[in-house]
Amino acid sequence: MLRFSGPSRASKKENPLDRVKNKVALVTGAAQGLGAAIAAKLAAEGATVIATDINTDTLKATVAAIGEPTTGLGHDVTSDADWQRVLDTIDAQHGRLDILVNNAGIAVMGNIVDETPERWRQVHAIDLDSVFIGCRAALPLLEQSGAASIVNVSSISGVVAGHNTAAYNSAKAAVTHLSKSIALHCARAANGVRCNSIHPAFVDTPILDSLASSVPRDAVVDKLARQIPLGRIGSPDDVAWAVLYLASDESAFVTGTELRIDGGLSAS
Ligand code: NAD
Repeated sequence: MLRFSGPSRASKKENPLDRVKNKVALVTGAAQGLGAAIAAKLAAEGATVIATDINTDTLKATVAAIGEPTTGLGHDVTSDADWQRVLDTIDAQHGRLDILVNNAGIAVMGNIVDETPERWRQVHAIDLDSVFIGCRAALPLLEQSGAASIVNVSSISGVVAGHNTAAYNSAKAAVTHLSKSIALHCARAANGVRCNSIHPAFVDTPILDSLASSVPRDAVVDKLARQIPLGRIGSPDDVAWAVLYLASDESAFVTGTELRIDGGLSAS
């Protein structure tokens, strides 16, 4: 199994608040982009973070940059066996899991006519089925925490549809409702697990590169920013702060909600 750890907890000094101190967090898709920012934020705020990704080369560098006690594990979120291996490792090494951030995902463009069945299934496998597999597999460990939090990374595309994002809209909207169903199940079971979804609009990560194949990236960013009432696209940190709130005990009365991090995009 691929496993990495960093040299020192460099980010610790950035924030003295320890808002998730003594918690163990699993962040998927953490090699780059939002996942890397979320892993770094949780680590800076005192959590022991297990960062996972299918891209193990980039993950290795990211984990090294965050520093100990953050560790990295190779993980394909579409694989039941991978989920079980990752969770077994966390149980063996830490004996607990308090925070699960289902962040791994892909974005593809395609309208209902262009979309192929193969790509439709791939998008749903990575963006939706992985959330079902992961939440279901992690619940027994999360329940032992007494105060656990699941944060599922949906998108503003899970709330507002676009003509050219059929599969992505479908998968992200389903994550929204799945998150509410999990929240209600956990509330009824009184198992101490909360579950919420977050809905970023355009955020400056490598995911935007796929949109910039024929036009310069800056032009893409400017065009996206013009759609946002606050006049800019989001930063990974904008999203990481929101995840930190939902992951911490500060949000103890918040479950089944959709937190939009969209600069006002969906307000009108
Ligand atoms: P990104 O492409 O920079 O990072 C996604 C990460 O997921 C990558 O490290 C990739 O290797 C990993 N990944 C892909 N398939 C995987 C798999 N099968 N198993 C494990 N890891 C896998 O994208 P990002 O912008 O950081 O996006 C992160 C999440 O945020 C995604 O779910 C995305 O849909 C969502 N999101 C992003 C934006 C945005 O504008 N950046 C907006 C809304 C929602």
